[in-house]
Amino acid sequence: MAKTFDLAPDEKIDWLRTLPFWVFHLVPLAAIYTGAPWYSWLICLFLYYARVFFITGGYHRYFSHRSYQMGRGMQFFMALGGTSSFQRGVLWWAAHHRHHHKYSDQPEDVHSPKRGFMWSHMQWFLAKKHFDVQWDLIPDFKDNPELKWLNKHEFVPGTLLMAAVFFAGYAIETLVYHNPHAWTSAAGVCIIGFVLSTILLWHGTFTVNSLAHVFGSRRFATRDTSRNNLLIALLTGGEGWHNNHHHYQAAARQGFYWWEVDMTYYILKGFEKLGLVRNLRQPPERILNKHLIKQGTADLGMFHAQYERAVKVLANVQFKTAEQKKALEDLLVATRGKIDEIARMSGEKAEELLSKSEPEPELVA
Ligand SMILES: [Zn+2]
Ligand SMILES: [Zn+2]
Repeated sequence: MAKTFDLAPDEKIDWLRTLPFWVFHLVPLAAIYTGAPWYSWLICLFLYYARVFFITGGYHRYFSHRSYQMGRGMQFFMALGGTSSFQRGVLWWAAHHRHHHKYSDQPEDVHSPKRGFMWSHMQWFLAKKHFDVQWDLIPDFKDNPELKWLNKHEFVPGTLLMAAVFFAGYAIETLVYHNPHAWTSAAGVCIIGFVLSTILLWHGTFTVNSLAHVFGSRRFATRDTSRNNLLIALLTGGEGWHNNHHHYQAAARQGFYWWEVDMTYYILKGFEKLGLVRNLRQPPERILNKHLIKQGTADLGMFHAQYERAVKVLANVQFKTAEQKKALEDLLVATRGKIDEIARMSGEKAEELLSKSEPEPELVA
């Protein structure tokens, strides 16, 4: 039986092409030599959270999920902000994310944690297989010229921002502090303010794909292993309510209740008041009460994950004959299929009964 974490040749890390990614991780070490003025850390914090917003509110909730609307100028601005975080082009990102929702935790999923933590965290996008934009998954944006340009020139906004941070550091050091070593200190400002915040932002974003499918609680029985996790929500501007999100991806908010902190949604609400964005989609009442685990909905997502783990353990059992091994494998495959079928049928039946018990809106009116 094939192990699910075997890597195909095009799934291996392309070391040459991803060299800048690895080198970037070493750059902050240079701050030991340059030093970093105190305000570099403030810039680091600001650029981290500002760009968390562009990734979460832009790349994710708008370009991937269309959970609200905005004009073309604002749309470009949101894409520009997201692109400055060096997470590849906006169309590449959104298309791969749509693919993830389409096949969450199934064998086709681009970054299922079932293939190991490192795969879901970053190995998947370092592989040759996932370098190209999946144009068929992004038909709504693929003909927009400015977005296509930005997607192609993905390194431009980040490089300009990096230069801006460097020259801002140089200006402060010369004008405010009259520092004779202004160039060195400016390099320190850039290393901590831009480079370090970018690396932290990368891993914050990757955490949603890795840890948010491993640690946390589940409110809704989704067909994947997504979780709700406060710590991840605080680090990622609200993306830690990942089980909510997999349950209903069309909402502009991922914290469904007031106690589920969702900074991105608060900012989007502010933008809505200013007229910059509109029609923030909310999770409807019937969605909030649907497929609740505490009401006994069969949690097939977790069942599949546990079942696959059990199958892996059984695959290592030493059998005397190949027939015995084959018999067990057949049994495991057949059992899973049957359980799935029963659970699906029960779900459909329950929904049918439920819809019959609710009065039809037209008849009431
Ligand atoms: Zn997910
Ligand atoms: Zn999503």
